[in-house]
Amino acid sequence: MKTINEYSFENKKALIRVDFNVPLDEKFKVTDTTRIESAKPTILKILEDGGSCVLMSHLGRPKGVSPEFSLKHIVDSVSEIIGVKAKFIDDCVGEEVEKTVANLESGEVLLLENLRFYDEEKNGDVDFAEQLSKLGDIYVNDAFGTAHRAHASTTIIAQFFEGKKYFGNLLAKEIESIDKVLNNSEKPVLAILGGAKVSSKITVIENILDKVDHLIIGGGMTFTFVKAQGGSVGDSICEDDKMELALEILKQAKAKNVEVHIPVDVIAADDFNNDANTKVLDVTQIPDGWQGLDAGPKSLANFDEVVNKCKTILWNGPLGVFEMESFAKGTIALGHSIDNATKNGAFSLVGGGDSVAAVKQFGFAEKVSYVSTGGGAMLEMLEGKELPGIEAINN
Ligand code: AMP
Repeated sequence: MKTINEYSFENKKALIRVDFNVPLDEKFKVTDTTRIESAKPTILKILEDGGSCVLMSHLGRPKGVSPEFSLKHIVDSVSEIIGVKAKFIDDCVGEEVEKTVANLESGEVLLLENLRFYDEEKNGDVDFAEQLSKLGDIYVNDAFGTAHRAHASTTIIAQFFEGKKYFGNLLAKEIESIDKVLNNSEKPVLAILGGAKVSSKITVIENILDKVDHLIIGGGMTFTFVKAQGGSVGDSICEDDKMELALEILKQAKAKNVEVHIPVDVIAADDFNNDANTKVLDVTQIPDGWQGLDAGPKSLANFDEVVNKCKTILWNGPLGVFEMESFAKGTIALGHSIDNATKNGAFSLVGGGDSVAAVKQFGFAEKVSYVSTGGGAMLEMLEGKELPGIEAINN
């Protein structure tokens, strides 16, 4: 893997694809700066070498040029976080931009306007990518969140930087931590897959069966597995058309010597509502009118035991409807178990989909070994796919 640490950027202009797709409030203030902070090590390394940085990103899903999606809103946050006053230009290609880049001096940072103001960005347009490529001597990709997209700035552009393209520190760290789980893991390896639906996780489960010793299945997916094996799941979320698939997964797991752990009890509610009546029920005996919305105490004790005997842990997806306080306990308890295992030397990686929100909300982000910054990109890596943004640098 060619990372920026192999290169000295002295007097070079680095064109860096970052993921500054950050949330803004109604006054256009950045409400979560994680993504900007994540790019800081790459930017600082280049500035400390004596180079300059041209930063390009998308923000939101604009239709053409739309001021509310302008990256000018985040310039102050970027400056504050990296400790250098960033310049901003209200376009990302063309003569004016090229002139501004030409005048950029060592130690300076320039933020370009939202790449997605041009449809060419998402279309992976080669001419647009070539125009962008004029804005730097070296190309650096540090945007894991978009590494699964073959867009102009994430993938297509790399062909114009033969021998002059590198992984930024964030992207390198993301790749390394997934590799540490999937390929270079210390055994026993555990994957915990929660969340709402089997259908959205099926490819991940299939790919991961070859890599793990234990698999915990939780969240809404539980009920498809339970019903497929003859249990009564009441009104719990269940994909009847995926029951065959669930049985097939269990069969494959057995053949591959993977121990599968499914909740044995649940917190059931008489309504999908934080104030609903609740009771602990055996997962196979949920009557109509009741639905399982969180893992029960026996399940959590089982999971704690499994987590604490594993040396590599991947966590994707909550164990219950964590957005409601009444059904967040399972997800929190699992977070504590993983925290404990990590303290005892396990490597723990959290990511994919919305898992990061749960981990942050309950304060586990600092306690696990690594929290991935890319939802969709991480899921695709777990599915065993080659990401175009990564391939473009490697080739
Ligand atoms: P995902 O994005 O697939 O990881 O799914 C996350 C969502 O799954 C969260 O919004 C949870 O509220 C939801 N979820 C977890 N457990 C359950 C459950 N037992 N019933 C319904 N939804 C659930």
